[in-house]
Amino acid sequence: MGVGAGSIAVAGGGAGYLYRRNMRLPAEQAAKVGKARFVIVGGSVGGLTVGARLLRGVPNAQVTVIEPRKEHHYQPGYTLVGAGVYRKQDVLFDQADLMQAGMRWVHDRVTTFEPERNRVITSDGTVVEYDFLVVAMGVVADFDSIEGLSAALQTPYAANVYDLDSSTKYRKLAKSFEQGKAVFTYPEGYVKCGGAPQKITWLSEDLWRRDGKRDNVEVHFTTPQSSLFPVVPKIDRVITPMIEERGIHNHYRQALRAIDPSTRTAIFEAFDGEGNSREVRQRYDLLHAMPRFRTPAPLRDGPLTGEGIGGQLLVDRETLQHKQYPNIFGVGDCCATGAAKTAATIRKQAPVVVENLFSSVLGEAPTALYDGASGCPLLTRYGRCMMFEFDYEGELVNEWLYQSTKETRRWWSFKVHGLKRLYTNVMIQGWV
Ligand SMILES: Cc1cc2nc3c(=O)[nH]c(=O)nc-3n(C[C@H](O)[C@H](O)[C@H](O)COP(=O)(O)OP(=O)(O)OC[C@H]3O[C@@H](n4cnc5c(N)ncnc54)[C@H](O)[C@@H]3O)c2cc1C
Repeated sequence: MGVGAGSIAVAGGGAGYLYRRNMRLPAEQAAKVGKARFVIVGGSVGGLTVGARLLRGVPNAQVTVIEPRKEHHYQPGYTLVGAGVYRKQDVLFDQADLMQAGMRWVHDRVTTFEPERNRVITSDGTVVEYDFLVVAMGVVADFDSIEGLSAALQTPYAANVYDLDSSTKYRKLAKSFEQGKAVFTYPEGYVKCGGAPQKITWLSEDLWRRDGKRDNVEVHFTTPQSSLFPVVPKIDRVITPMIEERGIHNHYRQALRAIDPSTRTAIFEAFDGEGNSREVRQRYDLLHAMPRFRTPAPLRDGPLTGEGIGGQLLVDRETLQHKQYPNIFGVGDCCATGAAKTAATIRKQAPVVVENLFSSVLGEAPTALYDGASGCPLLTRYGRCMMFEFDYEGELVNEWLYQSTKETRRWWSFKVHGLKRLYTNVMIQGWV
């Protein structure tokens, strides 16, 4: 990561360097930072990681987190719930247990941003003033974005791992599925964890193979993209033949437009790449249909977004500083950076945001830079996972370390047994 060695590292007497190494700011700078009021909107992995790192750097920092939920969801585990590896309770935590000592928790949701007045207002009318604001509101699955999707999800034939209850339902549906056509889709627009719709497809195919039903099941994966994993071309080239060998029918350049649950039909618009499109209908016996995603209303409809970015937070993709309001930063899924919307992304963004917040408080330009790094544990079958990191250019990072293009048992074990602990005990506690 191209962190800004020139900012507080030079003008502030080496604080940036010390912060990155030891996390604690020297006393003189910590005293200045201690006077600033930091408010974080959204207390999931993005908000809590930034908040915890702020407190690691300056233990008496004034950090307020505004978060309505009392239950914290470990969302990267949802796919494993759908696959029957985790139970629902394995991904639920008490929000209070994950919050660092020293954080003030406003248990409500923000309804209004007033950046000109440096304040936000919550649903009960509470006004929270700040010197620096971090927006970490994530994105939500919009199950009403596709005609018929919500209704289809109420039937016994469809489910979706992006909702925890539906993910539990999916497990039962897949396990009891004996024969017929299973259809999996991929959404248009920005996607929370773009790997998850594929992981659940491949794990399901493997489940039916292991249960001796594979010959009776037709598996279809439909995506509006031009290939399986276009964001990382090298991975795309490896997985495409691997998946095709397993007899999965991949349909490219097809976007889900509607579902008719009464006839169990998914209706797609298929593009030919030359501006023409036609309707394609797929009858299904099992459907894993993806909604589109959107940011929460006060962000989407408020003053912190911009034109043509789908209601996301208007930030510089490297400094993660808001493009209009310099005392506002963003982290995680809600940001219009073009980076993958994953917790792995947040692990790389949080140190940049905190270093730039410190620089800003000290009156210096934010020069720590986020390079687009993200990661993906691609669960290709039960007991096997490909692990890789990549940057804004879609190039693999540390390929030799991860053995990125290989399906391995050790990365499966790490995903199932290690990553959740890393998330709750290390990352959210501000240690990485
Ligand atoms: C099925 C699935 C599989 C995934 N797999 C992986 C994986 O394998 N690896 C990986 O790295 N990532 C994975 N992810 C993605 C990862 O979970 C997200 O990238 C991560 O949770 C984003 O964190 P965030 O803090 O930006 O947003 P979120 O976790 O979405 O949190 C946003 C928070 O903001 C709060 N909020 C919303 N509106 C308001 C408001 N108005 N006021 C105050 N607070 C508000 C919400 O209550 C929420 O707590 C997966 C996600 C899903 C759903």
